[in-house]
Amino acid sequence: MFDKILIANRGEIALRVVRAAREMGIATVAVHSTADADAMHVRMADESVCIGPPSSTDSYLSVPAIIAACEITGAEAIHPGYGFLSENANFVQIVEDHGIKFIGPTAEHINLMGDKITAKETMKNLGVPCVPGSDGGVPTLAEAHRVSDEMGFPVIVKATAGGGGRGMKLARTKTDLDLAFQSARSESKAAFGNDEVYIEKYLTLPRHIEIQVMADSHGNVVYLNERECSLQRRHQKVIEEAPSPFLDEKTRKKMGEQAVALARAVDYESAGTVEFIVDPQRNFYFLEMNTRLQVEHPVTEMTTGVDLVELMIRVAAGEKLPIAQKDVGINGWAIESRVYAEDPFRNFLPSTGRLVRYQPPLEDAHVRVDTGVFPGYEITPFYDSMISKLICYGETRGEAVLRMRRALEEYRLMGVKTNIPFHQHMMDSHRFLTGNFHT
Ligand code: ADP
Repeated sequence: MFDKILIANRGEIALRVVRAAREMGIATVAVHSTADADAMHVRMADESVCIGPPSSTDSYLSVPAIIAACEITGAEAIHPGYGFLSENANFVQIVEDHGIKFIGPTAEHINLMGDKITAKETMKNLGVPCVPGSDGGVPTLAEAHRVSDEMGFPVIVKATAGGGGRGMKLARTKTDLDLAFQSARSESKAAFGNDEVYIEKYLTLPRHIEIQVMADSHGNVVYLNERECSLQRRHQKVIEEAPSPFLDEKTRKKMGEQAVALARAVDYESAGTVEFIVDPQRNFYFLEMNTRLQVEHPVTEMTTGVDLVELMIRVAAGEKLPIAQKDVGINGWAIESRVYAEDPFRNFLPSTGRLVRYQPPLEDAHVRVDTGVFPGYEITPFYDSMISKLICYGETRGEAVLRMRRALEEYRLMGVKTNIPFHQHMMDSHRFLTGNFHT
């Protein structure tokens, strides 16, 4: 096992990793920008290194600064959290080349799955159904029209290198296609430095359901059931839950086994998420694989009793998975609400400023608050505007909803606007309560 690891991230996820490491007796190194000098993850870690100015490009995304921080402190491994460099194959290669262990998959896996076309190709070869679409990149508008006419509208134009909902444009009809194609390309070029796009049939009434997998370096792979992530805004998740109110045992098993087959086929290592689109008849189609820990991982932890970060660290250190598929059950229900500093009454306009008052709901065995903020914390435009993730557990879905309502009510916040009223509205919504919703 490692003696010391570095966490190349900030906020709640950096803290999450610090806590897991501490429980395992591993020393931690935090890295931070000048803006985060007194951030919670810095205070809680054993050591910290300033890696640059506020802008993430010059700090949390600075590969030389992070490698240097590792070498100065003697950290043996890096946990990347999510976002930032977590799915940057180039970074992982450099980490590996420096003899530092990356707590996650290899650079090769990230490359393979990060290219969405290659990932779909791999799935297709395994006989897993994929969302119907172009075979590979679509280089010209003429080709885009040919492919879309053949498939039938609506279609969705997506960046090959895409992520976070960027470089993704819907064309409901043929007349929308020119604009969708051009804007997906230019957005992708700006965000990912690559303007290759591909086209998929846009499935109507889709649900986004994903399977958590975990693999060690000895060929053992398990799936830790699904997360329902259909509640999205602009193709970004806002509320997630486990299990899904829509899946039956048979579909769950089929999806789980296919996700494991993909992980095995590429010799995957560490935590990964296989995302599927599920139609109203419960037909499912592979969407993409995320090669990192997901924001919404706590709902899986609460319902399976597995600590995903601990497992990631263990398998990175070469240990065998301590659980087999038969040990994985579903116990109860968990829902996560992502609380953001944004104004739901003004179309979710981001809200920055100082949290002059911050009192989260009381945490207990059934309520978990993952956060990096504290009273006096400044929400800046430099980073993600997430205040906290509120995760509530119940024996049943109904109980989890009631607990979520109660916990949302307990927040006392002043200084910024939050989307808590939106979450409260959702917890009262008939559609949400019946489980009858789609993306
Ligand atoms: P990103 O990696 O940018 O998050 P994804 O490919 O994971 O993009 O898609 C994000 C979301 O967009 C999905 O959860 C779903 O809501 C929607 N989506 C993507 N592709 C399709 C499709 N072919 N049909 C319907 N919805 C889609």
